Amino acid sequence: MTAAERPAAGPAAEHLRYALDRSPYYRRVRADRAGTHPVALDELPLTTPEEVAAAGPLGLNAVEHPRIARYAESRDHLGRVLGAAATAADLRRVTAAMADALRAHAGPADLAFVAVPYELSGGAQDTDRALAALGAGVVGVGALSPVCPPERTAALVAALRPSVLATTPDRALATHARLTATGHVPRALGQRVHLYLGGACAPVRAARVAELWGATAAWAYGSALTPAAGLPCAAGTAHLTTALYHAEVVDPDGTAAVPDGACGELVLTTLAAEATPLLRYRTGDLVRLARCGCGDPRPALEQHGRVEDRWRPSTGPARTAVELEQTALTTPGTGLYCVTGRSAGRPTALLDDATDDTRRDVARALRALTGAPWEVGTADRGTFLAAAARAGRRRLHPGDLEDV
Ligand SMILES: [Zn+2]
Repeated sequence: MTAAERPAAGPAAEHLRYALDRSPYYRRVRADRAGTHPVALDELPLTTPEEVAAAGPLGLNAVEHPRIARYAESRDHLGRVLGAAATAADLRRVTAAMADALRAHAGPADLAFVAVPYELSGGAQDTDRALAALGAGVVGVGALSPVCPPERTAALVAALRPSVLATTPDRALATHARLTATGHVPRALGQRVHLYLGGACAPVRAARVAELWGATAAWAYGSALTPAAGLPCAAGTAHLTTALYHAEVVDPDGTAAVPDGACGELVLTTLAAEATPLLRYRTGDLVRLARCGCGDPRPALEQHGRVEDRWRPSTGPARTAVELEQTALTTPGTGLYCVTGRSAGRPTALLDDATDDTRRDVARALRALTGAPWEVGTADRGTFLAAAARAGRRRLHPGDLEDV
């Protein structure tokens, strides 16, 4: 039996038919495959961000205009706009999934700051709604508005003492630095949980940033198109939200599935999205599907950063920026930053606060991982903080620190 002849059944097949019937984009995909019904998911081409951007803001929208309860956008690394609508039922499903996951981390006794962008982005609103559903107090400081710039957020953290901070590791670090510079002791401010929404980094780095505040780190994963695709378990590890998404992991340079347990590009298919159904959507994010020690059978999403941030040696396999960071920062004596890339054509890593011995040990560890010789230098922490503020969502490269 070929894939085309396989009987389509069950909720996943129902959603597949819904997408192919109702989304203007997927209707065109179906038309291109005329005569091969019923279509199985694994026969369909991958949906790329380029195609989503070309389809326009509502090019994937599968519902009548009055049913749109929210429109949000992401931008990919090339600045392309990826639009996504949601119905009220879509929002309820996301809020319920998030609230269920966050129950282990927040409750009525908590005050939470949501310090990720609200503008055109569903992530902050979804987190806000889920925390409110759990009875937590919520302060939506955002991250981009001139009404609440980073210094105002830091001042409010000192004044209101939130126990939960929903942000990225880099913003948590920048807020910590601002408070320390103004005479505060961030560890004494009572933060308990950091919920990291984006800014994928090495686990050792996330744990160190949270520990600076005396908090623990919990991870979520998602985008405007794929809200709540990964949500934290009680241990803080992001797990695939299997009620809402089916995941595949493919070769970032091709379309074939990677072997089980290998790192590759996450491809998501929605299972319940009414307004923006997605079939085999290339997220551009590298993950490894892993087992988590918490006992939750759903795959853990080990986040490895963006496809475009991989480091490619002249021979041997590409390495993710997160792998390099984890290797460097698990070397004793390292601090909070390891920025990797090429400088003057040579593999280069820049650390904060490292002795000559530590630099040598990091060079040795990176060579053991990649087979290449590494230049390992240092810059002071303030230079990293300033470069991260300039870079925004983009991962830092050695040039960002050398140009200043
Ligand atoms: Zn877990």
